[in-house]
Amino acid sequence: MGNYMLITLDISKIEFIDTGNVGTFKRGNWFVWVILDYILHQNALYGSEIWGSLMCTKSIDKCLKKLEELQIERVYLSYAKHLLGVHKNTTTAAVPGELGLLPIGMDALKMCFKYRDHIVHSPVSSMLGAIKGEDCLKVDGMWWNVLDKMELLICNKQGTVPDLLNKLESMFKEKWRCITENEESKLRTYATFKTNIWYEQYLSDIHERSHRRAVTRLRTSSHGLRIETGRYNKPKLTIEQRTCLICSDGIEDELHFVTKCGTYGEERAKLYTNVAKECKNFHALNEKEKFHFLISAEGDIIRAFGKYCHTAFEIRKNIMYPLTA
Ligand SMILES: [Zn+2]
Repeated sequence: MGNYMLITLDISKIEFIDTGNVGTFKRGNWFVWVILDYILHQNALYGSEIWGSLMCTKSIDKCLKKLEELQIERVYLSYAKHLLGVHKNTTTAAVPGELGLLPIGMDALKMCFKYRDHIVHSPVSSMLGAIKGEDCLKVDGMWWNVLDKMELLICNKQGTVPDLLNKLESMFKEKWRCITENEESKLRTYATFKTNIWYEQYLSDIHERSHRRAVTRLRTSSHGLRIETGRYNKPKLTIEQRTCLICSDGIEDELHFVTKCGTYGEERAKLYTNVAKECKNFHALNEKEKFHFLISAEGDIIRAFGKYCHTAFEIRKNIMYPLTA
């Protein structure tokens, strides 16, 4: 309970970051993210040498599910969404994808295995070393016993702590890929340019928060384009029916928004001119290639793209919802 309270306090700090400055750090500064990430991990992992064994299950699938269901994980992901500036209903799998996060429970398991190693290597003359010979530790369901079983499940043999963690990490990433690549998933476009979990450089490269947020929204399908809103229509619209309500010239998906819709033609022309200065062959790319190039870019190009996304979303909002503008 004590840890949970502290984490709640941290979230309130993020509310504060969102509306102003924290000390000398500008709003949205990723330094704050690093600090809070560290604080959360330190508090969340308190005592995990013991409770981390709760992540051990009879199958890998159940273990991965348990890692995601950990209460602290939900809190962690909810503040990560807030920091990214995306809606709370944004598909959860996109958040670790963008920030390069692995479940906290995985670190908890690591602490368990490390602690067991520590006991194994402690001299028998020490109090800790003396317990390793105790038969009661090997009883079914006991801490040592569940770790042994988990180790066999992950590695099919006894492995070192890094081996175990690497294997479990690969399994988690494989499951993440399956979720994003699912045809019905909101992340079907995301899966075409994002194939693994790692921190995205654009989060550091785009300094203007509204521009960075616009790119994140577009990447993670946390936007109001018809390709997304059409799935909530009653009855649900087929993909072919989710046409652009502004230009009526095709399905309003991310590709249409970035490379085709005439509504943003002027902004797009400025963007393409700027990008062509950095990438001589840009004009020779087809629309799909342009889209993938822009959405995965870094440095000046992603900054220019962030500006385009922000401005285009604003134009769209003003046309679609003039009364709220
Ligand atoms: Zn359009």
